[in-house]
Amino acid sequence: MDPQTGAPSPIIVARADHPVSRSHISGNALKVLYRLKDAGFQAFLVGGCVRDLLIGIEPKDFDVATDASPEEVKRLFRNCRLIGRRFRLAHIRFGYQVIEVATFRAAGAPIAPEPDLDGVTDEDAEAVTEEPDEERDEEPNGNVDRAHDARGRLLRDNVYGSIDQDVWRRDFTCNALYYNIEDFSIWDYVGGVEDVRARTLRLIGDPETRYREDPVRMLRAVRFEAKLGFTIHESARAPFETLAGLLEHIPPARLLDEFQKLFLAGFGQRSFDLLRAHGLLDHLFPATAAHLAGETDGMSLALIRAGLASTDRRVSEGKSVTPMFLFAVLLFGPVSAAAQKRFETGMQPTVAIADAVDEVVSRQNRRIGIPKRYSIPMRELLALQPRFHRREGRRALGFLAHPRFRAAYDFLMLRAEAGAEDPAIARWWTEIQSLPPEQQRERVGGEGGGGGGGESSGPRRRRRRRGGRRHAPPPAEG
Ligand code: ATP
Ligand code: MG
Repeated sequence: MDPQTGAPSPIIVARADHPVSRSHISGNALKVLYRLKDAGFQAFLVGGCVRDLLIGIEPKDFDVATDASPEEVKRLFRNCRLIGRRFRLAHIRFGYQVIEVATFRAAGAPIAPEPDLDGVTDEDAEAVTEEPDEERDEEPNGNVDRAHDARGRLLRDNVYGSIDQDVWRRDFTCNALYYNIEDFSIWDYVGGVEDVRARTLRLIGDPETRYREDPVRMLRAVRFEAKLGFTIHESARAPFETLAGLLEHIPPARLLDEFQKLFLAGFGQRSFDLLRAHGLLDHLFPATAAHLAGETDGMSLALIRAGLASTDRRVSEGKSVTPMFLFAVLLFGPVSAAAQKRFETGMQPTVAIADAVDEVVSRQNRRIGIPKRYSIPMRELLALQPRFHRREGRRALGFLAHPRFRAAYDFLMLRAEAGAEDPAIARWWTEIQSLPPEQQRERVGGEGGGGGGGESSGPRRRRRRRGGRRHAPPPAEG
């Protein structure tokens, strides 16, 4: 505490007493920091990057905090764009890298990014509409522009402040450390350095209030637990039970953002296990959670975990990953159950599955908004699964050339791995892809089909066996 002003004062950890070295900081971030400093402003690295540098992992991005206003930042950088309606931020672009510069804000506001509204389904347009902006106040005198909704959720904040105010609106102590470019020290108002050392996630302030302000912080806690191997402090974990339901009021587009951070960054399997363990999955994927709770054979669970493990592997190998595939994996249980009911009415398998997907997706969209660019290919991928049961004739060969074959095949492999499909079918499709065209034609038994290419397990027998399974992939088409 500053005895003159009453403002809180930080513990300042000198360069000699911490391991954060400029050699691990992105050159572009350093450029931004130095230019701000040279123009007479304060400039700090803040947030996840300081935390990550302290524990020796490579930060995903570098965020800067400063006492320069967004307009002042813009004047200093040619490559700068101001973004955000509720929170004005400066984005400084260097090729693909963007350094985000935020002006210090007064306490209590979330720094939640505005959701990416691009590509959100039409049905969702209503649900993802931003909170009304009409009372927005941009008076430069720092008039309070802050509002909560009836549940205590913070809707707006546009008050600029100083660093000792900025710190309190951040979520966890480990995310509230400031690296000062002036002398390379770390400023710690909240005991974050100690918590990073102890690998503890602790909320700043009263946990219940902080979760009510922004329930997404519960998901962030789980994400950092999964990603960093930190432990959520008991005080930050205890409110989950009573407050998890507040996630249901978060705009689906924001949850989609958070979903991607949880599941597409290389630690998806751990995120999933932890979300379940903490009782949060029910609020993100209610149908999936209910299905898992009721299933006795563990197949949906095995499929989800295998799908996430393979996505995590791809991320670690630097390969591309798509949310589309993960939605298919996560929703497969409820979709199969809904499709099963339709099979029983005699509905054609492909139609039944497509219809079941539509039903499940429209309910799912109330929580995580699945953009059509994912839900449409996902429906196709799932509806194609019955075609793998047809292994004779020209149509089988034609399937190999289908634009969605690869994705459908990857999904077949997962189903086989999870015990939800006959492994002989998966093997057959793996083998046929490796054959020259001549032998492929032989394998499917030529034009007339019918013989199943000499496979010992003919389609009819397989059909009967599958019928007895709970996770029954649908009967073969045609
Ligand atoms: P990551 O490694 O995933 O980038 P991060 O901690 O940097 O993790 P970001 O979402 O990039 O997370 O946010 C940057 C910083 O902004 C956080 O470290 C935290 O200080 C603050 N912040 C972000 N979201 C919130 C929130 N919902 N509530 C409070 N503070 C937040
Ligand atoms: Mg970050």
